[in-house]
Amino acid sequence: MPQQPSLVRRLFLTFAVLSTAVALIVFFVSAGLFQFSAVEDAHVLLSEEATLVSSALGDASSNAEEKLEGLDMRDTRVTLIERDGTVSFDTDAAAEDMPSHADRPEFEEALEHGSASVERPSETMGYVSIYQATRLADGSVLRLSVDRAGVVAMIFNEALLLLLVDVVLIVLSLIAAHVLARRLVAPILSLDPAHPDARQSYSEIAPLVNKISSQQELLAKQVEELKGAEAMRREFTANVTHELKTPLASISGAAELIKSGIVKPKDIPDFAGRIYAEAQRLASLVNDILMLSKLDESERSQDRSFMGSDEPVDLYRVAHDVVDRLGSAARKKQVSLELKGKPVFVRGLPRLLDEMVQNLCSNAIRYNKEGGSVKVTVATKGGLPVLVVADTGIGIPSEHQSKVFERFYRVDPARARETGGTGLGLAIVKHAVMYHNADIDLVSTPGEGTTITVTFPPSLVPSRLKHIEDSAG
Ligand code: ATP
Ligand code: MG
Repeated sequence: MPQQPSLVRRLFLTFAVLSTAVALIVFFVSAGLFQFSAVEDAHVLLSEEATLVSSALGDASSNAEEKLEGLDMRDTRVTLIERDGTVSFDTDAAAEDMPSHADRPEFEEALEHGSASVERPSETMGYVSIYQATRLADGSVLRLSVDRAGVVAMIFNEALLLLLVDVVLIVLSLIAAHVLARRLVAPILSLDPAHPDARQSYSEIAPLVNKISSQQELLAKQVEELKGAEAMRREFTANVTHELKTPLASISGAAELIKSGIVKPKDIPDFAGRIYAEAQRLASLVNDILMLSKLDESERSQDRSFMGSDEPVDLYRVAHDVVDRLGSAARKKQVSLELKGKPVFVRGLPRLLDEMVQNLCSNAIRYNKEGGSVKVTVATKGGLPVLVVADTGIGIPSEHQSKVFERFYRVDPARARETGGTGLGLAIVKHAVMYHNADIDLVSTPGEGTTITVTFPPSLVPSRLKHIEDSAG
């Protein structure tokens, strides 16, 4: 698209053309009016002169020519026409050479009405004349006339002055147009693109300015978010690297010792067991990282299908599977593990829900005390599906409660390492909760235990499954 013309230029041209046009129109209209009134005045003057001259002639028309000869009429031409049209006297031409004026309109009209005022080209003089004819007492006609061009020429000086005033006016209005155009555009030019303020400019462009500033705010926010995300990503990568290195170092250390033959044959199963445990830990760590990356990607792209497709899932079934799986771990820690409740359906991803319940239950067992208990409950509360995992474990001090959902966050890193935790479990739980539009609530008292409640949104129960829920309830 070609560059738009400058607003200052456009305003200036508009003002300039407009004021010049107005000045010219005023000039021509007033010049026209001037001329019109000058000709009018000439008519009036001629008629007054005609009255004067005719009264000076009186009745004694016998020596009219002599009387007329004695008059000083300056530019006014005086003609005396006999009743029959014969010209008996003329100030500007030889009367005896002139043809009969019987056909002249002013003569005919004066004979008929007593006086006449006519404007026409003169055959004798060759220019347009203004005629005033008056019938005298003896029936002859006295005619006065002036050159119309001469009358118009008289106002020439005045018109010239008018034109001069007009030119001055046009120049002044061009200067005014220039100043005005700049002044009108100034509020727009003074807008600071970095911090546009709608109040500083015209109301017409306020929506545009507001739009720009809101977009700038949005952009700034997005940049901040990106920076935050970038910082988080970097921290995450650093943590991942660190967490991967530890088990890898253990594995390669133990393997090297075996390889070099330093380890006694009877100790080899022990070393192999350590290698196996670390490899397991590595595998679960990699799984957790993959899961979190997938959740991140799905949130970032706002694409739920990225994780799989939602389906009705029986929370009770999921919890049942998890409790079965963790039975031996619980027994090992001498913690009792029990499941209560009834089938409750939510819409979601079975794998993600399993991961969530598994993480909550394994924490409840891991951070428990000998002889403690873990109670898992699946129910509906106020019409909403809920999952409650309550333990009688070590609890979480309140200052850590909001942080345990962060990646790699552990209340007691030394102890967590000992128990094999890397601090990703609750981060996955948090994202799984978000994915299912659920709510999570943590209540914990150090030394007494922790209760975590996940409340799901009301889910439509498929009619085919409804009777199961009813009969179980
Ligand atoms: P991972 O689950 O990745 O193996 P982890 O259990 O250490 O490792 P999270 O599940 O995210 O990580 O838990 C973070 C921290 O919160 C734990 O290290 C622990 O200190 C504390 N925590 C979590 N659940 C409980 C609980 N039920 N009782 C007491 N402390 C808990
Ligand atoms: Mg955990």
